Amino acid sequence: MPRYEFRCRTCGDTFELSRPMAESSDPASCPAGHDDTVKLLSAVAVGGSASAAPAPSGGGGGGGCCGGGCCG
Ligand SMILES: [Zn+2]
Repeated sequence: MPRYEFRCRTCGDTFELSRPMAESSDPASCPAGHDDTVKLLSAVAVGGSASAAPAPSGGGGGGGCCGGGCCG
């Protein structure tokens, strides 16, 4: 269900509502109960950049001991 952001013109608060698209243009009341609200453009972050997390460098699959010189 899409989320829509509204702003109350009475108290200036912004709030989000989850409602069907068929009711996207219906009037909404702010959490404080005011009816003078406007619907904002939904800023839905879709997509974006896939950040490749760097692989943790380390000892690999071998034994952890012989990397630090503890094995003589
Ligand atoms: Zn309000």
